[in-house]
Amino acid sequence: MAFQFEILKKDAFSKARLGRIETDHGSFSTPAFLPVGTQGTVKSLTPEELVEVGVEVILGNTYHLYLRPGCETIRRLGGLHSFIHWERPILTDSGGYQVFSLAKLRKISEEGVTFQSHIDGSLHFLTPEKVVEIQGILGSDIAMVLDECIPYPSPYEYAKASTLLTTQWAKRSLERRRETNPALFAIVQGGTYQDLREESVQALVKMDFQGYAIGGVSVGEPKSLMLNVLEWTTPFLPENAPRYLMGVGTPEDILNAVMLGIDLFDCVLPTRNARNGMLFTSIGKISIKQAQYAEDERPVDETCACYTCRHYSRAYLRHLYLANEILSSRLNTIHNIYYYMNFIGGIQEAIQEGRLLDFQKTHCSRPSGLEPEVSAHRLTTWG
Ligand SMILES: [Zn+2]
Repeated sequence: MAFQFEILKKDAFSKARLGRIETDHGSFSTPAFLPVGTQGTVKSLTPEELVEVGVEVILGNTYHLYLRPGCETIRRLGGLHSFIHWERPILTDSGGYQVFSLAKLRKISEEGVTFQSHIDGSLHFLTPEKVVEIQGILGSDIAMVLDECIPYPSPYEYAKASTLLTTQWAKRSLERRRETNPALFAIVQGGTYQDLREESVQALVKMDFQGYAIGGVSVGEPKSLMLNVLEWTTPFLPENAPRYLMGVGTPEDILNAVMLGIDLFDCVLPTRNARNGMLFTSIGKISIKQAQYAEDERPVDETCACYTCRHYSRAYLRHLYLANEILSSRLNTIHNIYYYMNFIGGIQEAIQEGRLLDFQKTHCSRPSGLEPEVSAHRLTTWG
């Protein structure tokens, strides 16, 4: 197992870091954004198209792959990388979030969680140990521990008991990890309570994880609370391990979190929005279905160099969307993922050149777009 994290440069005016993560399937730069490949595919794009728009690492959902086609099937077919024809790094989540948001009739105990599949109603029992094994079978490069992702808002006593359980599960996950297994990241929980977040992070950093995630955000809480959680948590995280903010977010959320020292992000926003005709541009979001684009010959974003913007007009993209054509999802997704990759690449360059504050002024002083962002992006990771 070749997992390594190296910090190449630290920003002088914020906590941002430029880094590089090495895995058995190659390396990638941080801060990094991971497009979500829920069912072993980033919806509507081929791996070649992902590479072309600059994607270096993707996320796979353990819950979905475990239920369908099943991890033993994926093992027999050569592992996840071979099965989905993606040669670069893959991070798999633990499935905890999906068990708690999608599955029916879930029952949680100290031992693990019993749940009913949302696909066929079959009963399953997952333990922290089994979740580590499943991600090893998949051949993931970075695995996440099983955690309980509590809803917002949650009462203090429930959040406290749940945070303790997640910490105990993290310890068991680490004990089960084998030499050949993926790198293992812990997940800080604690809801929106400062003392619980601090207890969680302090207990987890005493254990020997290769990275640390902050979970339980982007579940419907106000943005100010998400930033609070980062401010409470990040000072306790070790400098030399990557930090991953799960399920976040908008470009602005990502930049704010980078400046608080976060290295990794994933979110369904660019892909899901693309399929809904919502496109990110350098002057805010646009909804391509609007009548004002009916005969608009300009590309989605005149400053964008993606395949979609090089070849197609807003008018054509609007037509494809209204006609419910498959190509609509594909072209819109190419643009949105390119936009995110270009944005994160811009952040990396700005850190390298010591001008992150200027980058922030340029990118976060504009009107935010057409409508307020919804925070609960992760609720639709199967959509
Ligand atoms: Zn474009």
